[in-house]
Parts: sequence; structure tokens; C-alpha cells
Amino acid sequence: AAAAAAAAAAAAAEAEEAAQPTESQAINAALVALVRNSDLFGLRKTIRQIEDRFNARHNYPYIFVNDVEFTEEFKRGVRDLTRAQVHFGTLDDDSWKIPEWIDQERYAQVKQTARYPHGEKDSYRKMCRFQSGYLHHHPLLRNLDYYWRIEPDVEYYCDMDYDPFVFMKERGIKYGWNIAMTEFMATVPTLWNTTVQFATEHPEFIAHDSLWQWMVDEQGRYNGCHFWSNFEIVDLAFYRSKEYQAFFEHLDKAGGFFYERWGDAPVHSIAASLFLNASQIHYFSDIGYFHPSVLTCPSDARTRGSCVCDSQKSFVQNGLCTARFLQVKQALLDPNATTPAAS
Ligand code: GDP
Ligand code: MN
Repeated sequence: AAAAAAAAAAAAAEAEEAAQPTESQAINAALVALVRNSDLFGLRKTIRQIEDRFNARHNYPYIFVNDVEFTEEFKRGVRDLTRAQVHFGTLDDDSWKIPEWIDQERYAQVKQTARYPHGEKDSYRKMCRFQSGYLHHHPLLRNLDYYWRIEPDVEYYCDMDYDPFVFMKERGIKYGWNIAMTEFMATVPTLWNTTVQFATEHPEFIAHDSLWQWMVDEQGRYNGCHFWSNFEIVDLAFYRSKEYQAFFEHLDKAGGFFYERWGDAPVHSIAASLFLNASQIHYFSDIGYFHPSVLTCPSDARTRGSCVCDSQKSFVQNGLCTARFLQVKQALLDPNATTPAAS
């Protein structure tokens, strides 16, 4: 009974702490992740760094969602690390399923023969579909204007000496990224054609200064470039827009989340590159970051923000997609420049 009373007191203290008003937020934003209970320790590493590098000064809330209930151990393990509010939620069944229109036999065949990471898994495909089409509609995110996506086991190498949400809002930026790379093409063989079909049906959805050129090669095929969405800071009005929503539904009906293994990274990236203007997409080259197995590190890492990464090892050094993004964006923003800057 004493242990139960102590636990109840601890829970009450925890609830009280969570409900305490923190410094008033200029922006309705949160740090958000879909995670599993088994990700607790990887996620604790991430939160520790986010708090030390940024959020202890801002106290933006965290939102975690899961396809099963979070355990008490998980909730405690997360709440221990922050003064900010933490919200935990589960998903509704529609957002985490194999849709009725998927041909089960064809899909079973695909899983058996797939030769790419996670090719045999239902859960990975449901995860990608959820992050593409449903996370931004989750009830816990309903009143949110911006989110910063986080994941277990990532690293933040530098102090953030400004608030990226404010930075984006002041400039009308809708999508922020920090690593761009090419996709395993075996996971997206028909994604581009399915996209072109959509764009042909909806030319009115394509932004005037869209970055689509960033994603196509000389033959007009998808070159695989995408923003790595394990880090992304997004104005959620973009994902809730009729353009994005219609695009997701078109992709979902085509079945490629299951017959192939379309990732939320190329889906978000293609949508951003078609429906947003170049000026609305920002490369956060100053945010030093690692997700297994790639890192990005600012070129002036030794002198700024207490960075603890090696610029020489930064992926951007050999990142063709990053250089191409900068060239295409520069050409769109300043069409008179003859030699677009590549840095
Ligand atoms: P990768 O980054 O592509 O290697 O994929 P991850 O394994 O890191 O998964 C991406 C994110 O989705 C991580 O935050 C995972 O915790 C989460 N995730 C992946 N699969 C599942 C799942 O089946 N259930 C839940 N709740 N989260 C998942
Ligand atoms: Mn990951």
C-alpha cells in the first residue's frame, strides 16, 4: 500500500508539473515522433540532446504517437528528461492498416521477393503510409501550426542559437530540411510516373516557382533525390492543404506504399517540390545532425554553436542532391545569375 501511495504521489507530482504553464509560446509548435515502446532508450538520447541544444530554453511540447499503448515505463522515461509538456497518443485503425483495395496475393508476392531494406515488413510500410498521410491529422496535432520531427537515436551536434519555428514563420517557409540524398530506386519504381499522372490531372496545383527540376534527370525521370524526413520542420498547413491531401490519396489508391515501399521521405519531398515555391523550402545547413548512418555538419562547425562534429565528414561534401537543390533554387530566385552559387 505504501508503494502504491508513493506511486500515486509521484504520478500527481508528474501531472502537476506537466500542467504548469511554461514560458508563453510565440508559436504553436511541437517536437513530434511516431515511436515504439522499444525505442525508449534511443529516444531518451534524442530528447536529452534536443533539450540541451535547444528546447530547455523554449519548452516546446513533445507529442509521441504509437500504434499500441505506450507503457508507463516509456512515459516516465520520457517525462523525466524535460520540463516541457509531453503528450502520448495511439492511432486510429484507418491510419494504420493495409487498405481494402490492396490485392493481398500480389502484396504477399512482393514481400517474398523484395530485395531492399524492410522489404518483407508490413509494419514499415504502414509506418511510411502513416507518416505520409495521417500523422498531421492525428487529434494531438490538430491545433498545431508547425512540427519538428524527431526520431530515436539521432544526434544534434550544435547549439541552436535561434528558434527555427520563428525563423520559418517570419519568412513564410513551409518546409525545412537538413539532409538530402538519393532513394533506393527499387523502393519507388512507379512513384514518379504516378506523380506525373497526378500533376497532369491537376496542373493548377503546381507552384509557379516549383523546384521539380531538382528531382528529374536529363531524360525526365526521377533522379531519386529527396529530403530525409527523419528531420523535417514543417508548416502543417502544407500537409493539410487540398493539394497535398489529394496527392496522398492518389498515391494511396495506386497502392505503392505496399506493392513497392514508398517512403514518407520521397512522398513529402516530391509534394514540397511540386506544390511549394522554391522560397518556401529551406535548407537548414547550420543544424548539425546525425541519423544512422549519415551526418550533416556545418562548414564552420569548429567556431560556432559548440558543435561537436567534423565538417570534413559531412554528407553534404559528396551530396549531389544538395548541390543540385541549391543550384535549382538559386536559378529560380535569381534567374539573371549566370553562375548559380553552389554553397
Ligand atoms: P528508418 O529511419 O527508415 O530506418 O526507420 P525507423 O525504424 O527509424 O522508423 C522511423 C520512425 O518510425 C521511428 O521513429 C520509429 O520509432 C517509428 N516506427 C517504425 N516502425 C514502427 C512501428 O511499427 N510502430 C511504431 N509505433 N513506430 C514505428
Ligand atoms: Mn530512423
